[in-house]
Amino acid sequence: WSKDTVAVVTGANKGIGLEIVRQLAKEGITVVLTARDETRGKEALESLKRQELHNVNFHPLDVASQESIRKLAEWLHKTYGGIDILINNAGISSLHKDTTFENVKLVLDTNYFGVKNVTKALLPLLRDNTPGGARVVVVASTGGQLKHLESKDYVKTLSDREHLTEDFVDSFANHYLKDVANGSQKERDWPIWSDWVNSRHGRCAEDYTVSKVAVNAYVSALHNILVAQPGREKKINVFSCCPGHVATDINENTGVKTVEEGADTPVWLALHSPEGGSGKFWKEREVLDF
Ligand code: NDP
Repeated sequence: WSKDTVAVVTGANKGIGLEIVRQLAKEGITVVLTARDETRGKEALESLKRQELHNVNFHPLDVASQESIRKLAEWLHKTYGGIDILINNAGISSLHKDTTFENVKLVLDTNYFGVKNVTKALLPLLRDNTPGGARVVVVASTGGQLKHLESKDYVKTLSDREHLTEDFVDSFANHYLKDVANGSQKERDWPIWSDWVNSRHGRCAEDYTVSKVAVNAYVSALHNILVAQPGREKKINVFSCCPGHVATDINENTGVKTVEEGADTPVWLALHSPEGGSGKFWKEREVLDF
């Protein structure tokens, strides 16, 4: 790796994202720290400079805004020509908010549609000469494993990872949103909320689970699209992973792992791009069931 390698990290002003930036910057890579709030992003950048990490740059990015995504893509193209690594880390939970349609939609727009829109906008910028291929890493969650879905039909279709399509994942996410909008989600087979309430991993809201199932499935769907490219002129590997239960703001610091531990697998995937691991779900550097 060298300073000519460019990595982009979303939601990187704090928590696991900031630590991912720090670990990648320590490798000598040029890292673009993005954050939806310019002040918080620049403060994070300054904190890294105080640690003598000067190979980090900042650009605003709100993953829930297409306009913001478009501006970042334009700037990356103008500034670097292309990128080698994209880490989709930004995420929210709605646990302590009311389960209004707007709150639920924001969770899906950030954790699923946001990841998808950022990835699609930056895919053309991923370089074809990255040694071992360019990489996209998604920070998902074990909260998005299919065992948390009651619906046998969805579990069956979503577990057939080799045949997953983006349209199907969209229809899954939109079906949930539609049910929330008309108040019928409780009657259907959406995630087992009670299963999570007292779990040792902490509470995991239904909309968060649906968003992480969707993003996990999207990684497989994207992998299927990438391997089907005619001629595969560009090699891109795409991974989803769980950082573990990490003490950060998203869980009011109730997690048991440090951010250093949480960043380990996403950074390892980004740096090592394990052969045969694209399209799969990882935790602690190992493949897990989806
Ligand atoms: P934090 O709450 O500490 O960090 C979340 C980051 O995402 C913040 O920088 C936040 O920015 C940013 N963000 C939220 N919405 C947007 C948006 N629309 N556009 C850009 N950035 C946004 O949580 P973590 O560091 O723990 O979370 C990182 C990822 O890890 C998430 O995807 C989370 O779901 C996942 N994860 C975390 C686990 C844990 O135990 N901590 C377990 C499993 C998965 P801001 O400061 O502006 O709010």
